[in-house]
Amino acid sequence: MKSIARALILFCLALPAAAAPRLELQARLDPATRQLAATATLEDARGLAGFALGDEVEILSLTADGRRIASRSILRQGRAWHPLPTGTRRARLEYRVTLKPLARLDHRAALADRDAVADPEGSFLPAGAGWYPEPGGYFSYRLDLELPAGQKGLAPGELLSERDDASGYRAAYEFAQPSEGIDLMAGPYAVAERALVLPGGRQVRLRTWFHAELAPLAAGYLEDSARHIERYDGLIGDYPFGIFSVVSSPTPTGFGMPGLTYLGREVLRLPFIRATSLGHEILHNWWGNGVYPDWTAGNWSEGLATYLADYAYKEDEGEEAARAMRLAWLRDLAAVPAGGDGALKDFTSRRHGISSIVGYNKAAMVFLMLEDEIGRAAFVRGLRLLWERKRFDGASWADLEAAFAAAAGRPLRDFFRQWVERPGAPALTLKSAVLGGDRLELGIEQRGGYALEIPLRLVFADRVETRKPRVTGRETRLVLDRAAGAQSVELDPDYRLWRRVDPALLPAILREVFVAPRAALLAPGADAATRAAALALAGRVLDARLTAAADGDAGLPGAPALVIGLDPAVDAWLKRHGLPPRPVASAGSARVWAGRDARGIPYAVVAARDHAALGALARALPHYGGQSWLAFDGPRVTAKGIWPPRAEAIAVR
Ligand SMILES: [Zn+2]
Repeated sequence: MKSIARALILFCLALPAAAAPRLELQARLDPATRQLAATATLEDARGLAGFALGDEVEILSLTADGRRIASRSILRQGRAWHPLPTGTRRARLEYRVTLKPLARLDHRAALADRDAVADPEGSFLPAGAGWYPEPGGYFSYRLDLELPAGQKGLAPGELLSERDDASGYRAAYEFAQPSEGIDLMAGPYAVAERALVLPGGRQVRLRTWFHAELAPLAAGYLEDSARHIERYDGLIGDYPFGIFSVVSSPTPTGFGMPGLTYLGREVLRLPFIRATSLGHEILHNWWGNGVYPDWTAGNWSEGLATYLADYAYKEDEGEEAARAMRLAWLRDLAAVPAGGDGALKDFTSRRHGISSIVGYNKAAMVFLMLEDEIGRAAFVRGLRLLWERKRFDGASWADLEAAFAAAAGRPLRDFFRQWVERPGAPALTLKSAVLGGDRLELGIEQRGGYALEIPLRLVFADRVETRKPRVTGRETRLVLDRAAGAQSVELDPDYRLWRRVDPALLPAILREVFVAPRAALLAPGADAATRAAALALAGRVLDARLTAAADGDAGLPGAPALVIGLDPAVDAWLKRHGLPPRPVASAGSARVWAGRDARGIPYAVVAARDHAALGALARALPHYGGQSWLAFDGPRVTAKGIWPPRAEAIAVR
């Protein structure tokens, strides 16, 4: 009985997929002339209402259930929609279009641009750009692609066949599951391939499609792709495709699509991509391109990818690296004006800085807090359950909540309500800590009205101990037992709660001065050459526009300041104005560090051996705004770090 019931359930779950519309597309693309010519057949047993197609596309013929009809279109949601006669089950059209040329886009524009473009150096025809007829909603497809000799191309899906000879390139791709659309990429690629065998004998074909100059990197990319796929296949569940490709793009993009990632050719050269972004994009085969976010109810996939990729790699490095990432998230939040951070459910895609702080950082921290709350085993069960339930289907935050609640064996409504549906974040302050015998009485103030289990670290003469009492109201008085001998209490010292941290407690970093809208430049004791080098360097690192260095013998001006000079002059200036001395050992040619004055106003100091050493910093220094201190040897960074953070702490009375 049980197996019959289960079979019925599986049958019901399979129904929507089986009934999804189907697109068969034969496309011939000539990147040199930017001509795309195609024949498309759309089928839906439930009937096709019509299809969307770019308004620049010229339809040469159109039939509905074998009868030729005139093509006409209406404007629907800003796009050309071609209605079909009621009850049409099969539409066939021939069409052609001249695609746009490849523009030289920067990263931001490349992410926002959704036009289909063609160029011999690389063509990209994204889903949703109107280059194929879209039936609306998810659909399955087969693409038969034809390219001139010297070009190769691909789309998400299983590679059914491939032929490459003097007459050109032909390949057929099949995407049998319901998909959100077709992304087509082509270029003058050299293809490298290796096989990956997963548990149970499942074969995955790994490929790189690289521009010629990247060929030496192919073996490394194939190896790391195998490593990342094995990791997530083991953690979450079966890798859902028979192929995974890394594809080189002429523009500085970074996209993850089902079974492939499309990364800028300049990006692929960067040494850290294989260990970081590649894993993030591969993880999107489960979250984003395997289970689709319900775009109307919030995009949870970036947060989950950030947590299980970018953050997990820091955990692999060690607790110190992981803590630095959590602290960096809270630092970003501290810079958002109160009320500026929306609810997680309202994040749909990366639009600007603040939305990425919510959609990526807050979401990642919410998954961390969820794992802290229900435990690693239940958290992993929840991930696997979500994968089982929602593979190739849309999922909302509510579906995630349901999966994790089932895995944890208890409702998680309160948790998801306060972290996903509410905007903002709590702020916590330790008000008092009074010891009587072995009972420690604590006063904790909260702005926000969240229900939290706050990690409190009790510091004793010979040990530390972490407790996690529950705090709900604005003022919470707590009594902790077995606390005799406690000397101080620290609140969430490892930054495991999404909360607003007092900026004064965050370690000073260089960026505070670099991005200040108004910043002063001080060049103590500088001669003309040093002064000129200081002004040039300040022009490179500061967002603020400067015309001259202020009189270098004055003290800090009461505004963010950059102090630049040669070692002896800087040492003397620090001493004269009662500031801490040069903190980094004197080896190398220059040292840079960040601090805050007694009023909490940030400053940054650059001290160099000579003015040539100052000039050598210009290239690298702007990229290290996230650091507290750096040591340079010529243009090269030899050491760097962030000052230890100060925990929210209170002494026990
Ligand atoms: Zn992502």
